[in-house]
Amino acid sequence: MAISDADFLKGWRQVLEMCNLKAGEQVTILTSDDSNPQIANIAKLAASDLGAVVSELNLAPVNGEKALSPDKSGYVGKTPLEGNAAALACLKASDMVIDTLQLLFSKEQEDVLKGGTRMLLAVEPPEIMMRMMPRPEDKQRVLAAAEKIGAAKKMHVTSAAGTDFTCEFGQYPVLTQYGLADEPGRWDHWPSTFSARWPNEGSSQGTIVIDEGDILLPFKHYAREPVTVTIEKGMIVDIAGRTEAEFMRKFMESFNDPRAYAMAHVGWGLENRAHWTVLGLYDPQSQLGMDARSFAGNFLWSSGPNTEAGGNRDTPCHLDIPLRNCSVSLDGEPMTIDGKVIPADQV
Ligand code: FE
Repeated sequence: MAISDADFLKGWRQVLEMCNLKAGEQVTILTSDDSNPQIANIAKLAASDLGAVVSELNLAPVNGEKALSPDKSGYVGKTPLEGNAAALACLKASDMVIDTLQLLFSKEQEDVLKGGTRMLLAVEPPEIMMRMMPRPEDKQRVLAAAEKIGAAKKMHVTSAAGTDFTCEFGQYPVLTQYGLADEPGRWDHWPSTFSARWPNEGSSQGTIVIDEGDILLPFKHYAREPVTVTIEKGMIVDIAGRTEAEFMRKFMESFNDPRAYAMAHVGWGLENRAHWTVLGLYDPQSQLGMDARSFAGNFLWSSGPNTEAGGNRDTPCHLDIPLRNCSVSLDGEPMTIDGKVIPADQV
């Protein structure tokens, strides 16, 4: 259901205030030909309303002819910033960038962030954004989880479906997403509420079973039957099952890139306003799937790139797979049990 411009403007004002946007700051609204016009227009109005100096930068879409699906998270190759020194200079000169084109992770984006620019991605349908307006308590939960995952040496994940997976930490920083770009150099995505980390290279080991009904992104569908993924020394070495497994194998093979099989971020969802059901209630291509990535107690694991964590594995193939009913522990301390966040009063 649509959100009125008036309500969306109130929402944007509140979020930008929570992002510590001050009068006189330079804000760039990054758009492309397929940006949601309501998001771009209302973000621009809200930033102007708060006294920011607002520009709009429109960049042509890229990768369209290479990607197999319209989902931008499923093809994370070069961005329109590559070779575009003028656009890069504009973003670097901004205090805050509101990204409605979904720039995704790239050396150029890391460059912009390193200069202190904060960036807020905003691409989900406005009603999903408004349902999951960032709240201070979400940030607290995410930071509490990040503290745990940041101090942990080892993660262990199990499930009744057959998952038994371990990995070690220390090599890469912790990823926090609480929907606010509220500090210099911070990237975030409204809406999202989770914490994650990239395992040490070569440390991921074991079996992950994607059970019937778990969500596969960027496929944006619910698994039709179980898929057993075997991971050895940080790499996916086998994907076994029926049609669902074949679908996953064929998609990954289409990139013809061995780096696609590396394990990427692992973590768990912390958002009690996000729902496992939402992906099935929408035209899947109308959303990125932040309910799926954020719902409380999921085990969200992924494959492919590590550029977001500062690594140089820039494979364009990226899967995000939120599982239900898993138990995640850090150095033996439970963070979720059977898909419920521990302690339960954190959610
Ligand atoms: Fe991801």
